[in-house]
Amino acid sequence: MNMYDAKELERLLSLEDEKSLLELYEQADKVRRKYVGDAILLRGLIEFSNYCGKYCYYCGLNATNRSLERYRLTKEEILDSVSQIAAADIKTVVLQSGENPMLRPEWLAGLIKDIKSRYEIAVTLSVGERPREDYKLWKDAGADRYLLKIETSDKKLYNSLHYGMDFENRLRCLRDLKGLGYETGSGIMVGLPGQTLRSIANDILFFKEWDFDMIGIGPFIPHGKTPLAGKQAGDVNLVLKTLALTRIVTKRANLPATTALGSLGKDFRVEGLKAGANVLMPNFTPAPYKKLYEIYPNKRCISESTGACAPCMGSIAASIGRTIA
Ligand code: SF4
Repeated sequence: MNMYDAKELERLLSLEDEKSLLELYEQADKVRRKYVGDAILLRGLIEFSNYCGKYCYYCGLNATNRSLERYRLTKEEILDSVSQIAAADIKTVVLQSGENPMLRPEWLAGLIKDIKSRYEIAVTLSVGERPREDYKLWKDAGADRYLLKIETSDKKLYNSLHYGMDFENRLRCLRDLKGLGYETGSGIMVGLPGQTLRSIANDILFFKEWDFDMIGIGPFIPHGKTPLAGKQAGDVNLVLKTLALTRIVTKRANLPATTALGSLGKDFRVEGLKAGANVLMPNFTPAPYKKLYEIYPNKRCISESTGACAPCMGSIAASIGRTIA
């Protein structure tokens, strides 16, 4: 019998008393130490464009938000940020943008080749749903990893939050990415309106079934310029329980303490690192643009200068007796 079937995960997700929560987080912490060790992995994030043609109901970058000033970094600006990431001895760069149909696949392939020819650094892409041939072009150009969050594995809920998008195409993308040999990452938002504990339990089983290399779990945070404006934000304890159970069930996956988890009034990334997380993602988007990548409001550290996050990661690690990889 599987110890962690949907029913049991749902029960654990409903735990409320402090003692049980502490035990759960401690168990996740033990599993984390045993399978991925104490060192925290850093991923240097560059949000290179906030143009997006999609209408995800929870996201401030959605195409209907006409009040948002849009930007796209030049290749030189991106390479400058990559050089700062390399100088900080970070071994992975994450190139992220909204899902822009105007993004020319050849342009991104050229950028990947430039980065790989100059630095010994892994390149992670996060630019959304694309045809298989684009994923292949980028893989052949040297890309190593790809992040595509499923947001929720509940097909009905997914379709209700993604106007004009199709859950099956999302799965097709994830299958293509895995088939092409990318280290593939996914993830969910916790606290989405209409999401149940059973649905989150199924998300955790979905992560196990797909055997993702990285899984991002963050709270839903409502944005004023979206159809979900005014809805309640995800509960931090529910995010931490989901993170802890994902660690216990998946064991080896890399789990970031997400920036969204650090943006709930207090910086809960430390709690995330103590409940199973082992990755931090310092932001290297050039300072003037950082604040325009507003997926949700009150995002953490958007006024810091470019690269200022990297040393801060060292202090977070030291505060809990961990090291940076
Ligand atoms: S979540 Fe991604 S695809 Fe959806 S609106 Fe935001 S940036 Fe665009």
